[in-house]
Amino acid sequence: MLTKAPRGTKDITPKEVYKWKFIEDKIRNLCGVYGYEEMRTPVFEHTELFQRSVGDTTDIVQKEMYSFTDKGDRELTLKPEGTAGTIRAFIENKLYSETQPTKLYYVTPCFRYERPQAGRQRQFHQFGVEAIGSATPSLDAEVIGLAMQFLKEVGLGDLTVNLNSVGCPVCRADYDKKLREYLEERKDVLCETCNERMEKNPMRVLDCKNPTCQENLKDVPYIVDNLCDDCNDHFKELQVYLKEMDIPFVIDKKIVRGLDYYTKTAFEIISNDIGAQSTVCGGGRYDGLVEEIGGPKGTSGIGFGLGIERLLLTLENKGVEIENPYATDVFIVTIGERAKIKSFGLLKELRDSHISSDKDHIDRSVKAQFKYSDKIKSKYTVVIGDEELENDSVTLKNMATSAQTNVKLSNLVSEIKNILGK
Ligand code: ATP
Ligand code: MG
Repeated sequence: MLTKAPRGTKDITPKEVYKWKFIEDKIRNLCGVYGYEEMRTPVFEHTELFQRSVGDTTDIVQKEMYSFTDKGDRELTLKPEGTAGTIRAFIENKLYSETQPTKLYYVTPCFRYERPQAGRQRQFHQFGVEAIGSATPSLDAEVIGLAMQFLKEVGLGDLTVNLNSVGCPVCRADYDKKLREYLEERKDVLCETCNERMEKNPMRVLDCKNPTCQENLKDVPYIVDNLCDDCNDHFKELQVYLKEMDIPFVIDKKIVRGLDYYTKTAFEIISNDIGAQSTVCGGGRYDGLVEEIGGPKGTSGIGFGLGIERLLLTLENKGVEIENPYATDVFIVTIGERAKIKSFGLLKELRDSHISSDKDHIDRSVKAQFKYSDKIKSKYTVVIGDEELENDSVTLKNMATSAQTNVKLSNLVSEIKNILGK
């Protein structure tokens, strides 16, 4: 028990952590390129925030939240997703009073009480962006473009955007009526969950994965075919921008997203894996959310959330290798006492120049030192013994090619800097 992490959580050890750093560096870099700034919010929030923003009828709120009462009798919840906290912070810090739009991103742990399996944990991590304060479809296109470029740059080339519009309260009122009538007639052949959803949030019935329900919903009316003029124009304009950016997309009328506050654009990005297809990113517009949780009326927003564990799994399944950028550049093998002492001076010089370098610390034999250098995948190995010290000459071995060069010991640091281009 003491030596086992809680169910559904995972350590990220040095064997993997470099991959996370690679992903996080890409996120920070690319968000900067697109003009998005980082927002960091608390890991827990008032439970009510998620009830209001994620929505009472969603699986997240109904079944998956880590909620607790603190010693001051406050109802709190570990964040199950990143949007609610970010929007709360946008309102609380009055970012709406600054020049709009406000373009934010976050990288955060999230918590959901789910049955753990591959790609499904109780603590996982999300990268997300939120562009708040503009209703124009160009912002939808920008957000989708950012997600696509990010996924390409981390190594997922073969991607499709599945696009839909879920309308707005105006068109949804009429559509809801139509949908309810359709579902009412099929009440008896739809599953229990569908029947529950039918009452509270009928559009979520389309989310049902049950094959029988799917079959019985074959000719169900879709919201995207019932949009008001404003939503229809928005949807068309977004497609013009996506085409201009050469972003491939297909319309998927079934995307409803699990969350109540989504309006207009809803999208998923699919990695076209060999065989299976997997959603790596999902997002959409939420023009009703800011007002819903107490912010200024009519403040629009669009964003996406992307699970980092799922992304790493997809990269692994596709055989995409991430190189460890923190591998040791130079390992010093020493023979004898004098060399052992001298190596400390050399290490200091190398490290002062920010060349990652190391030596043995547990009195290994020369052979074992070479073996170790190989094991930690150092780029170069240098050997120093009495002879090398006397002749002011050392051998530098390129570990990838096994090529050896002789270098003056007194020039070692500048030679290595040259070779490494540092
Ligand atoms: P799913 O249908 O797989 O449960 P979801 O609809 O609940 O996904 P979102 O709420 O849209 O997912 O969350 C955004 C992303 O976060 C998902 O696409 C996925 O990559 C990731 N994600 C969600 N839940 C988990 C989890 N329990 N463990 C790991 N990643 C998760
Ligand atoms: Mg889920």
